Amino acid sequence: MTTPLPPGSLIGILGGGQLGRMTVLAAAQMGYRCHVFSPNFYEPAKEVACAQTTASYDDEEAVRAFARTVDVVTFEFENIPDDTLSTIANLSPVRPNVEALYTSQDRALEKKFLNDQGIATVAWQAVTNEFELENAATEIGLPAILKTARFGYDGKGQSKVVTREMLRAAWSELGKTACVLEVFCPFEREISVSLARGHDGQTESYVPVDNVHREHILHTTTAPSSLRLETADRAIVIAQKIANSLDLVGLITVEMFVLDDGTVLVNEIAPRPHNSGHWTIDACTVSQFEQLVRAVVGLPLGSTVRHSNALMTNLIGRDADAWLELSAETNACLHLYGKSEKRPGRKMGHVTRLSPLNGLP
Ligand code: ADP
Ligand code: MG
Repeated sequence: MTTPLPPGSLIGILGGGQLGRMTVLAAAQMGYRCHVFSPNFYEPAKEVACAQTTASYDDEEAVRAFARTVDVVTFEFENIPDDTLSTIANLSPVRPNVEALYTSQDRALEKKFLNDQGIATVAWQAVTNEFELENAATEIGLPAILKTARFGYDGKGQSKVVTREMLRAAWSELGKTACVLEVFCPFEREISVSLARGHDGQTESYVPVDNVHREHILHTTTAPSSLRLETADRAIVIAQKIANSLDLVGLITVEMFVLDDGTVLVNEIAPRPHNSGHWTIDACTVSQFEQLVRAVVGLPLGSTVRHSNALMTNLIGRDADAWLELSAETNACLHLYGKSEKRPGRKMGHVTRLSPLNGLP
């Protein structure tokens, strides 16, 4: 794109969750309108968007109509069927490009892509049948984690296995579908790097952050990470390399494991807004969501400089019942996603506690 889309243009978003909601809000702040496409009527992003389509991703007519109305399309949800994406890509620009999304949709493709770029991951093997399963366990050793190649999120579709019996049981439980078996990593910590890349190839990275998971769901993100600066810089270089190799225009978050000796291994990549980047809304000049909007409409990227250190805590299920106390806390920024049903494990909102860098309260 040579000329940026002007304010008033319509951004199409595939997926209706909280990542979409916060993207719509960032777009609205800059005068852009959003059309959200997702299968359910009551969704966090739809509530705040100016146009909505409720249809299955397989509904070709609805997909075409959506793609024809919008000026550019992005996504907040990774598991969009290939056919839907190619239909859309024939009618409208899609940012990030669909190949980047294809790569991230499949753990085997993703890890192969990373290793082909010379980027280290844990040792892993693709598994598509019982023979390969047993071989992979011999090759990699146990304990290991068996993960479905596709459709996993928040720890769903994966199982830690310590014995051969557990391995076979996990294979059955996961549906005997294409998987990857990867070494269980005794990491010192988990970090992530969120980075925006513009249409001109310019990149803007946020500082690496420390992530703590509870029951496989992100619990807290601390920004910045307390990692040694040299390791943090290496993590940023890895994220830049990935974004450049994917020729990504938009936003990407790279999840990484850091070992005791400072080795950085990439766990997975997400070419979309990411939970570990939510702190940027309240602590940075320009948030991850605004960077995505800027990148997809062709504006220059904004500054990723932070004015505060931040601790982001997810509000899962009933955690959100504390909304009144949280809303009264000084320097706490409360975000609720408007979900009515509080299922256990469901992300209802988050709170970001700020420590301003100028020392003022
Ligand atoms: P998703 O986020 O899509 O559910 P991940 O691959 O990121 O899947 O796994 C979720 C979490 O499980 C990770 O953030 C990490 O805490 C843990 N985990 C995943 N893979 C490994 C591994 N190979 N070794 C140790 N822990 C792992
Ligand atoms: Mg993950």
